[in-house]
Amino acid sequence: MTKRVPISFEFFPPKTDAGAEKLKLVHQDLQYLNPEFFSVTYGAGGSTRERTLAAIEEFNGKGTPVAPHLSCIGDDKARIAELLDLYKSQNIKRIVALRGDLPSGQVGLGELPYAQDLVRFIREHSGDHFHIEVAAYPEMHPQAESFDADIRRFIEKVNAGANAGITQFFFNPDSYFYFLDRLAKEGIHIPIAPGIMPIINASNLIRFADGTGAEIPRWIRKQLSAYGDDSVAIKDFGHEVVLKLCERLIAGGAPSLHFYSMNQTEPTRQLVLDLGLA
Ligand code: FAD
Repeated sequence: MTKRVPISFEFFPPKTDAGAEKLKLVHQDLQYLNPEFFSVTYGAGGSTRERTLAAIEEFNGKGTPVAPHLSCIGDDKARIAELLDLYKSQNIKRIVALRGDLPSGQVGLGELPYAQDLVRFIREHSGDHFHIEVAAYPEMHPQAESFDADIRRFIEKVNAGANAGITQFFFNPDSYFYFLDRLAKEGIHIPIAPGIMPIINASNLIRFADGTGAEIPRWIRKQLSAYGDDSVAIKDFGHEVVLKLCERLIAGGAPSLHFYSMNQTEPTRQLVLDLGLA
């Protein structure tokens, strides 16, 4: 039997009224699974500021804590301070602090060019009010100078005041365990939740992986392309692959699982149920 570990779910802010209505239902469905928190992404440079705020306002105070993502690249300290004050006034206690990626065409890194600068700024501005999560990359961030340099950058975020990490999605559990071992050797033992990407649709998955530097192992790519448009076969295969991945991560000591829900109830709900984590 799988050990029970806490779970959390990520949403992105919907672009349309219909999307916002649908997300309310997804939130309800996933809330039954008793997650530790829901997080809501934030477009770099403030590009989704209003929509992220609207989603946070919608779900805050409805039982499960919410955790806004906050990115710093291309933004300025005053605007970030405003958000921190707002979240504090809404009794929000957790923030996912990120650098973000500048939308194409936007130039200028802003006053806080890296996530470590943002973490430091949050601590300076809000003290210990927020529990700060930061991004972790078991397969290395695509712009890092090297794997070792990326590990050092991650440690800088911890030293700046991050409490925990959430990883980019991956399908090779060894990369996660190796990443944890490397951090442990440097004396870093903060909890790092694997980010779990359910397999819903082959072309979207490949697009996300290409954009984030996450690797889709050859055997998964080949199976997905062999299934073509057969969405049932993709769903069944994806469920089995991700379920086994989660089981191995939990058996190997992952402290919790963070699901990239893609604003959909399924297949995340079924994975959580089959893992016995609800
Ligand atoms: P950083 O930790 O700052 O690292 C970025 C790169 O810079 C790395 O290659 C690092 O090695 C390097 N680096 C760090 N410090 C220095 C330095 N001083 N000098 C030189 N190089 C340095 N994006 C969004 O826009 N909105 C979101 O809501 C969002 N949510 C995410 C949630 C999770 C769990 C994850 C894993 C990613 C998320 N992202 C989001 C994507 C993220 O913003 C991108 O991956 C971005 O490219 C890096 O953000 P970071 O916080 O990891 O940056």
